Amino acid sequence: MVKNRFVRCHICEAVNNEKVGEIICRRCGEKIYTHKDVSLHRTIAFLITAIILYIPANLYPILITRQFGVMQESTILGGIMHLWEAGSYPVAIIILLASVFVPILKFIFITYLLISTKYNVKSSIADKHKLFYITEVIGSWSMIDVFVVAILSVLIHFTAVQILPGTGATAFGLMVFFTMLSALSFDSRLIKK
Ligand SMILES: [Zn+2]
Repeated sequence: MVKNRFVRCHICEAVNNEKVGEIICRRCGEKIYTHKDVSLHRTIAFLITAIILYIPANLYPILITRQFGVMQESTILGGIMHLWEAGSYPVAIIILLASVFVPILKFIFITYLLISTKYNVKSSIADKHKLFYITEVIGSWSMIDVFVVAILSVLIHFTAVQILPGTGATAFGLMVFFTMLSALSFDSRLIKK
């Protein structure tokens, strides 16, 4: 007698019969991957892309301000120092957390999840699920920076200063996007033991 095995759909959680070859979810029609390497390799590829993008995001100007015809470019760190010197401590701290520390924390979390999945590191399942959840929640917070830039540009639009997003902003946005893809493509079913 053939033993029936089941797989869970990672999109809608429906239980499907496992069979040889391609499995399509009976409820939502999504393709279900049973081979754990597919998920891991995608997560790693997106993670590496995000880490590479983190470099230009910090090196290139994120903001270009034009006041009375004078152009001034500032990077993330330059902008933070500028805000700090100007006495805007809360804004400086929020931007520092959102655009410098949060992405690094996410890289570390995802790397840890990948390593612990690959080598079956003994730690409680609850801990790993918590970490995965934190990674997903933090993801939306690293967008704060983009919001701050948007709000600043709207506010300053009324004055004589013109604000334009720089190359760094594009790299930063892409980095946030690829970090999110990396966390999303990580299959939480792989968290075992
Ligand atoms: Zn489904």
